[in-house]
Amino acid sequence: MCFADASVSVEIDSDEIVAIEYKCGDCNSKFRALGKKVSCPSCQSKNLIKM
Ligand SMILES: [Zn+2]
Repeated sequence: MCFADASVSVEIDSDEIVAIEYKCGDCNSKFRALGKKVSCPSCQSKNLIKM
């Protein structure tokens, strides 16, 4: 399993692992992340909005 290649689809056959799309409330960057402890990759903010 390697997620380093951005061209790889994040669609995974599992109900447990779902990439959630977030928007940062501070710098407005959009990103996808897994898990619950998520912070913005650009500014490390935790002021995130689920898309
Ligand atoms: Zn941010």
